[in-house]
Amino acid sequence: MTVADLLKPQGRGWDKEIVECMFLPSEATRILNIRTSPNLPRDEWYWSLDRDGEYTVKMADACLVGDLNDTGGPSNWERRRWLWNRLWKVWVWPRIKLFFWQLCSGALATLDNIAARVRDESSSCYFCTSSSESSLHLFRDCSVAKWVWSSLNLDGAEEGDMMDGVGEVRDWVEEIWRAGDARDVEKYMVGCWAIWEHRNKVAFDGAMIEPDRIASRVRDILSELETGGEGGQGCQNKRKGKTEERGNDGWKTAMNGYVKINVDAGVKEGEGVSTGVVYRDERGEVLWGMTIVRSAEWDPRVAEAAAVYDGLQEAQIRGHRDVVVESD
Ligand SMILES: [Zn+2]
Repeated sequence: MTVADLLKPQGRGWDKEIVECMFLPSEATRILNIRTSPNLPRDEWYWSLDRDGEYTVKMADACLVGDLNDTGGPSNWERRRWLWNRLWKVWVWPRIKLFFWQLCSGALATLDNIAARVRDESSSCYFCTSSSESSLHLFRDCSVAKWVWSSLNLDGAEEGDMMDGVGEVRDWVEEIWRAGDARDVEKYMVGCWAIWEHRNKVAFDGAMIEPDRIASRVRDILSELETGGEGGQGCQNKRKGKTEERGNDGWKTAMNGYVKINVDAGVKEGEGVSTGVVYRDERGEVLWGMTIVRSAEWDPRVAEAAAVYDGLQEAQIRGHRDVVVESD
């Protein structure tokens, strides 16, 4: 389908019926608000982030690592890269890394994100109901999160200096990274994952809100990672001391000259599908990554296949010909 298919013939503007049928209400409104040209020019590629419509790899890269809305230049983009590279070396399950990365990209289906897309959707936190559920609220400010961090002996809940003026979850994560040691970072990542898991049980299975369950789940996962147990999901090797090297984390890097693509997908009924893709070179360095959120209702296997497709398609665009794909 091309843009022309959404227009009435003879340059008479958008075909409202088709646009409204194909897009979410908020997206349809945005499209219908774009003024169309009466001159019927031919369709052509136009890169919307550039004033002249010119595509540049640099801008696309900044965009893919999550700087889409940032006005900052390369320094901001370097910051993101710094974060992804560290994230990738943490000793946790691949799916936790991908989850965490979605969190940092603002791609998690938190209620405030959904309410921005779906009209009349309530956004109050499932745990405390007293605040809107943003990522920052859910993982940092909510009473449940505070309880979890303090029972894990982490100070993430304390509203000290590091919290002042911090408005984005990525900044919070970056602070944690700079402040904590490697074990703390692991705990935070597993903690966020367990909070999200529990939140979904409460939201979709009607489970009771039990913060102590979250904390014990975190301890279980951490000890499983420690012993390289069955649930390690790709972390077959035991931890090799505190100063493990990259590539030693049980996660094999790609063979020489190849790029490794790790993909994961998340499906939430009524909320859509998100896919995450991360590319690493043969040294394990993150080259780039992306997340895509779709308002689709897919079976998890279809969503996983879509994640593989997204990864391969982007690899092709970027000119990677020798790739290895890994998914659950
Ligand atoms: Zn809350």
